[in-house]
Amino acid sequence: MEAMVLHRQQGPLRAEELPVPEPRRGQVLIEVSACGLCRTDLHVVDGELANPKLPLVPGHQVVGRVVVAGPGVDGLSIGARVGVPWLGWTCGECRYCREGRENLCDRALFTGYTLDGGYARYMVADRRACLALPDGYPDLQAAPLLCAGLIGYRCLRFAGDGPNLGVYGFGAAAHIVTQVALHRGQKVFAFSRPGDEKSQAFARRMGASWSGSTDTTPPEELDAAIIFAPAGELVPVALRHVRKGGTVVCGGIHMSDIPSFPYSILWGERVVRSVANLTYADGEEFLRLAPQIPIHTEVETFELERANEALSKLRSGDVQGAAVLSVGA
Ligand SMILES: [Zn+2]
Ligand SMILES: [Zn+2]
Repeated sequence: MEAMVLHRQQGPLRAEELPVPEPRRGQVLIEVSACGLCRTDLHVVDGELANPKLPLVPGHQVVGRVVVAGPGVDGLSIGARVGVPWLGWTCGECRYCREGRENLCDRALFTGYTLDGGYARYMVADRRACLALPDGYPDLQAAPLLCAGLIGYRCLRFAGDGPNLGVYGFGAAAHIVTQVALHRGQKVFAFSRPGDEKSQAFARRMGASWSGSTDTTPPEELDAAIIFAPAGELVPVALRHVRKGGTVVCGGIHMSDIPSFPYSILWGERVVRSVANLTYADGEEFLRLAPQIPIHTEVETFELERANEALSKLRSGDVQGAAVLSVGA
């Protein structure tokens, strides 16, 4: 099968022919049709996340159809359309798994990082990681729901439902979270890099009440803020704009160091927290909600072979909405 393979971090992916993987107990073989790109893929490729499986097929917003079910798989028929997210396997035994917080599993394995992912014609996935996708979303439009959507949704849960929500970094996750927030009756204040007027215009087009650069003050105090940009210096910036009792949620898996800041901007019961991975319950809940809103995903499509080009566009912030690899033959 064709696959885009990472052999060494900070190097390009190579187009290669690999054997089609065989599903083991509890796994299915999926014929991939689309795979979304995520900033986390950049962290893996660029070396900010240590110790990936190597060689590695990246990609963790995978849409495809089940072609073979391994032993012990039930409830998934051949031909079923499924989505595979970042959380690829959990142990089911550790304290976190037993508490229903498998996103924090001590032994978790991650799609496209410590397990092969969806930048390929086929992949195997644990049956538990296969999420049912809502009808009405073509494969390419469904892919960004699987990380940008899911992680954004989990961030929004911790940000709460206060009327004014700040969003820092307006990429794939922000454009979905904005639609959920508007649906809940919240106003969105969108921040992007100074000079990035394209993203700011995109945010307003997606329904943000206000958009501006990260070095400006929003016109109203925020109840909460979600930081999707991997820039630690935004934590004190956001804290200064969040009212007493408000929360700053860091949604990325990697962030540059957070500079020291005066206690006074945290005082007043403000909270800074991270959001890690997702639970499968989050996935099911969000994927049920998406068509009710309905969430519309803006995608820029690239052929599988152009994965390197797609990653560099994402790296330079040149993608509006979500970048997705079209994998189907
Ligand atoms: Zn566990
Ligand atoms: Zn992701």
